[in-house]
Amino acid sequence: MADIIIVGGGHNGLVAAATLAKAGRRVTLLERRENVGGVCELLMDGSTLSPEVVKALGLGAAEAVPSVVAADSEGRTLDLGGAIDDPGYAGWRRWVDQVRPALAAQLDGPAPDIGSTAPLMPLAKAGLAVRKLGKKDMMELLRSAPSCVNDWLSEHLEDELLKAALMAPALHGTWMGPRSPTSAASLLLLEACRRGVGRAPAALATQLAEAVRGAGVEIETGADVARIRVEGGTVAGVELADGTPIDAPIVLSAVGPKTTLLNLLDPRVVPGKTAHQAEVIRVRGTLARLKLECDGAQWPGTRLRIVDDPLHLERAFDDVKHRRLPTVPPPLEVLVDGNIATVNVWNAPFELDGGWTGDARTALTDAVVGSLARAVPGATDAVRVVEVMTPADLAQEYGLWGGHPMHGELALDQLGPMRPSMQLSRYTTPIKGLFLGSSGIHPGGGISGRPGLLAAKAILGR
Ligand SMILES: Cc1cc2nc3c(=O)[nH]c(=O)nc-3n(C[C@H](O)[C@H](O)[C@H](O)COP(=O)(O)OP(=O)(O)OC[C@H]3O[C@@H](n4cnc5c(N)ncnc54)[C@H](O)[C@@H]3O)c2cc1C
Repeated sequence: MADIIIVGGGHNGLVAAATLAKAGRRVTLLERRENVGGVCELLMDGSTLSPEVVKALGLGAAEAVPSVVAADSEGRTLDLGGAIDDPGYAGWRRWVDQVRPALAAQLDGPAPDIGSTAPLMPLAKAGLAVRKLGKKDMMELLRSAPSCVNDWLSEHLEDELLKAALMAPALHGTWMGPRSPTSAASLLLLEACRRGVGRAPAALATQLAEAVRGAGVEIETGADVARIRVEGGTVAGVELADGTPIDAPIVLSAVGPKTTLLNLLDPRVVPGKTAHQAEVIRVRGTLARLKLECDGAQWPGTRLRIVDDPLHLERAFDDVKHRRLPTVPPPLEVLVDGNIATVNVWNAPFELDGGWTGDARTALTDAVVGSLARAVPGATDAVRVVEVMTPADLAQEYGLWGGHPMHGELALDQLGPMRPSMQLSRYTTPIKGLFLGSSGIHPGGGISGRPGLLAAKAILGR
């Protein structure tokens, strides 16, 4: 019998499995798809993987990845890895680099246990890291974090394409536009996560899977967990969709907290307060993904961010907010491999008014192709649509509640000790033996591996 069952083989499940197996535990990992990696296989940017995870799992060296080129509809391009002309950029970048360690310190350990009488040391440590910045930088951090990202960047930068290119990836997963209060915190969070060298996304999934196998984890793919079994208030194992029971005294669920608490458990074993906390987690996905074959495109780079300016992003968010198909050319993130372009679309609401019908899919595809045509010469002269995944398809294929890629929106009230709630942010649950460890738990998603690592440590430290 396994000591621990991990439900879900996304990157957090893999990190947790390898960490526990390396510590001598017998671990079985159950993944309902035919391969492990989860949403990780859709990545465009692997640069936020935690250096601690890399070290703990002994992952191979990161390989250099090409820098992002921003491109607007007037044909202007800006290499974000090259020299940036904007007179305020160097100062802004210097300040962000200066405060990064204080921010990163909030992500490295479990969320402070502010709801109990537990030792206040972790809370004090987190506060001290910010205090050590000095009065001026600390005040600037406290002032800027709750502001709108557009206001904050506009205090420093002039170039509208640069501002949009910097803020766009931070808004992914937030259900916010650049003029939404607290959106600056999302950019600070993204910057805090960027500590390593970029890691090619395809290599990342393979390296994680190898580390897990090397550590001796038993991996079962095609294993759809229908239920986490609880007997007398304590975990007894799981039951697969085909009725097969698998026993273990500990289950670490690396699928989203909403799914875990509301779908995988018998409602009678979940305390009412906990169920309510799970119900109110916001998970409104806004992301679609297309694969296009484009012969004859003159790509300005292999990693592109197609955005005009912050107003363009705000209008795109207006579409999301009003649950409608794009009325402005969708902002896009594009990864180019030969003549294949993989495209992430940032303004595709999961809760589309009228639903994701065939007509809606066609309209989205046309809007994406139109957006590409404006920014990349020749991209749509000979274009073939290879694949369209709406947020509803992503939800279905990867088990994402609300189509949300991070199992919980990134927003100040859903971060730190509130991710996903004060009771659940420290990996334990009111059910003895049940732990949580997906991106829906502190310190959140996308790719960092920290929730999986910290959940594994919580089990080892019991
Ligand atoms: C299109 C797209 C692009 C993205 N790009 C980036 C990016 O460039 N950079 C970035 O940092 N983040 C990105 N993200 C977000 C990031 O990929 C996710 O936040 C992260 O992968 C989540 O990891 P996870 O391990 O917590 O969960 P998941 O990857 O969702 O893993 C959960 C796993 O559990 C499995 N599962 C679900 N239910 C069951 C069950 N009942 N039984 C067994 N198994 C089950 C699922 O199949 C899945 O494999 C992107 C997301 C999407 C959708």
